[in-house]
Amino acid sequence: RQILSLCAILYLSACDSGSKTDVQQEADVSPSVDIVAAEAVAEASLWPKLRSPIALDPVIEARIDTLMASMSLEEKVGQILQPEIRHITPEQARKYHIGSILNGGGTFPGNNKHSSIQDWVDLAESFYAASMDESDGKVGIPIIWGSDAVHGHNNVIGATLFPHNIGLGAANNPELIQKIGGITAKELLATGIDWTFAPTLAVAQNDRWGRTYESYSENPAIVREYAAAIVRGLQGEPGTEEFLDDFHVVATAKHFLADGGTEDGIDQGNSVMSEQELHDIHAAGYQPAIESGVQTSMASFSSWNGQKMHGNGYLLTSVLKGQFGLDGFVVGDWNGHAQVPGCSNTSCPAAFNAGVDLFMVPENWQQLYKNTLQQVKDGEISMQRLEDAVRRILRVKLRAGLFEKGLPSTRPLAGDTSIIGHPEHRAVARQAVRESLVLLKNDKGLLPLARNLNILVAGDGADNIGKQSGGWTITWQGDGNTNEDFPGGTSILEGIRSVAEAAGGTVTYSLDGTYDSKPDVAIVVYGEDPYAEGHGNRPHLVYQMPDSSDHEMLKKLKADGIKVISIFLSGRPLWVNSELNASDAFVAAWLPGSEGVGISDVVFRRDNGDINYDFKGRLSFSWPKYGWQEKLNPHHPGYDPLFKLGFGLDYTAEPSTMVMLNEDPGEVLGEIRDLTVFQGRPGAGFRLIMGKEEMLGDLEVFTTMDGSRSEIENGALVVMTEDKAVQEDARRAVWNTESLFWTAISAGVPLDLTRFNDGTLSFAYKVNVRPSDPVSVGFFCIGGCKEEGYYGLFQSEPLGEWQEVSIAMSCFLKEGLGLMDTIAPFSLETKGKADISFADVIVRKSSEGAITCPSE
Ligand code: BGC
Ligand code: BGC
Repeated sequence: RQILSLCAILYLSACDSGSKTDVQQEADVSPSVDIVAAEAVAEASLWPKLRSPIALDPVIEARIDTLMASMSLEEKVGQILQPEIRHITPEQARKYHIGSILNGGGTFPGNNKHSSIQDWVDLAESFYAASMDESDGKVGIPIIWGSDAVHGHNNVIGATLFPHNIGLGAANNPELIQKIGGITAKELLATGIDWTFAPTLAVAQNDRWGRTYESYSENPAIVREYAAAIVRGLQGEPGTEEFLDDFHVVATAKHFLADGGTEDGIDQGNSVMSEQELHDIHAAGYQPAIESGVQTSMASFSSWNGQKMHGNGYLLTSVLKGQFGLDGFVVGDWNGHAQVPGCSNTSCPAAFNAGVDLFMVPENWQQLYKNTLQQVKDGEISMQRLEDAVRRILRVKLRAGLFEKGLPSTRPLAGDTSIIGHPEHRAVARQAVRESLVLLKNDKGLLPLARNLNILVAGDGADNIGKQSGGWTITWQGDGNTNEDFPGGTSILEGIRSVAEAAGGTVTYSLDGTYDSKPDVAIVVYGEDPYAEGHGNRPHLVYQMPDSSDHEMLKKLKADGIKVISIFLSGRPLWVNSELNASDAFVAAWLPGSEGVGISDVVFRRDNGDINYDFKGRLSFSWPKYGWQEKLNPHHPGYDPLFKLGFGLDYTAEPSTMVMLNEDPGEVLGEIRDLTVFQGRPGAGFRLIMGKEEMLGDLEVFTTMDGSRSEIENGALVVMTEDKAVQEDARRAVWNTESLFWTAISAGVPLDLTRFNDGTLSFAYKVNVRPSDPVSVGFFCIGGCKEEGYYGLFQSEPLGEWQEVSIAMSCFLKEGLGLMDTIAPFSLETKGKADISFADVIVRKSSEGAITCPSE
């Protein structure tokens, strides 16, 4: 391991004697910080030598020297750990000299979703006070709290929620992005938090990825422009007084590198590409982020050509810290270190040595602390490397003024409730909503609408602020929220009401599109339900399949002679040919956030008939013509979108009529080999339900699983979430009685799955407690499948271990019949006590490796 101790030279000689200007000049010709170099030297022709505008400050470096000289080894190891607030108390943080904490998506002080602003500040206060406690000869070092404020301060009730990045990308307005950064910083500071895990600089290339909406664009040019703006907004203008002052927070450029380039759009997957492509596409945002002074970066869960980024010393150290000159620190992602070969949650010298400076170790931090301490003692981690990491962390804390800012309660913004959701902030969010909307169809100039019409508003997105806000909204996955969780926000319906009713129009709201008196127009708001990382990957881009209830609603309205406007909510472009055909106007609204009223700003004319606001949004992601076009980017061969990158109609366009599009999902289906029934969550169109024997014939009567735990008949059957590979990607079913109960994954409508007649049902399962009675795996269908399912499992497998199985479809089919009308392609039922977990349920075309059953 080669140590380039250039900073040592810099601050011991030049820094000590020289003025700040000398140092800056010096830095022009030499790297400005210690680089504990990794395996290889970065390809200098590919990775340019960058300079942060935040030069090393000799005063700060000297303070770090002084602090480090009095810190014990234990205190140094404590600095490099970041536990989660559910798993550590302020007292423990003091005792273990913890350097940082985080709250994960959907984690709140005291586990209370409705925590007040003061609750947040109080918790920040206790941690800060504990970290500064100098009793027992400790060195007081302020703890730094990081939070995912990824579209506003989204974990906090009442905060201003901006459109998710995909919508901001369509707005193409870097100035607006900078403002959004500034507002997000203030709302964070109102809760006493100093650091956000944003911006995400992913350049998402495969729209099946469940984090596509966190990416500004598939186009590196947009990400490049925005990266500079958002970092400046969050941290303040580098080189001015406002940089990391009382009104700004530390930003994180994430996830380094190529999180948006994984194969098949799999979250935390593998990005297979040349170093040139890595640089040209995926690094686009990092260069401007560094040149805008970004202080931290987060390592990606993903791999590059098979190597986990958390263990990639070449990219983390030689490229990011070396060539790009990041002299702040690299934080790991949520137990991301554990995915490096040879590592676990509690031990990973490889990630630390590769360049991760701060371990994000939500829960098992005590063991990681012990192991890391030992590894330094044993020399597995060098003292230089430890000190390099601690120096970087202290540097950021000092630059952010955390020592001087003092207790959160004494800072200008902390506890100021008027800042959270301030009207001026909401006005900017509303502007962002307006500018993010992309008009894809506007037959015969239907939009803009007059205000005084009789309007029918329909669809499950119309009055649902949770749905319009998407994932990373109060809860991690964005599920389980109601409009009451968004005080100060407006649903799209409320926006329409406020505009139309004031101008003499009428608004009738009907979830399913039914009405008594025929309206002049129908505005139908529908789209994807909220999801986030891990759970939001899709097998294909067809919007609604097998269910097509939204399309049915649109068609019915059209058949009744009503003009239909679709407002489509989604975290990515989706194949909506049928929905487009059934709409006169179609607006891609992405995930607009808390200010639903921004939509009516654009959709309606003024009272005097003038245009109010025109559509400014242009696609920052190409829109698919076929459901299999998941990797649809201009720089990929065979680019053939329905709407190109940059497309968007506006009111200046000549009124025209769009041609009818091909609606054949068969063409799409042909491309899709397997049917995802459950992967992390029920597959598109499926729901997890549970019921009792008597209900079998009547699927109207059942319980749908909602949130992380559901039960039926006072706990006779309980289904809850469980972690398999990632958080909450499996389900555990516990049967507690002696009558027959089942859980199933149902489409709610009969599906034609005959193409799988010769295929298999495959899934992962784990027997937690040996069942008292046989448990059957089965199908619910009309006619073709057996009532008795397959009984061959769960009796002899080792307890507590995940297994995988594929069962031939013939085990479920009646002789000579096929899967014509399948309602639920997976069910588990028993009439005894049982405790079984399951995950990854897939109906496959292939019969390879399957258990077969004798035919009847
Ligand atoms: C995500 C990060 C996030 C972190 C903390 C991870 O699972 O990948 O984007 O910042 O959790 O919530
Ligand atoms: C946390 C998220 C985190 C995720 C990682 C969740 O429980 O709340 O913040 O990103 O786990 O898998």
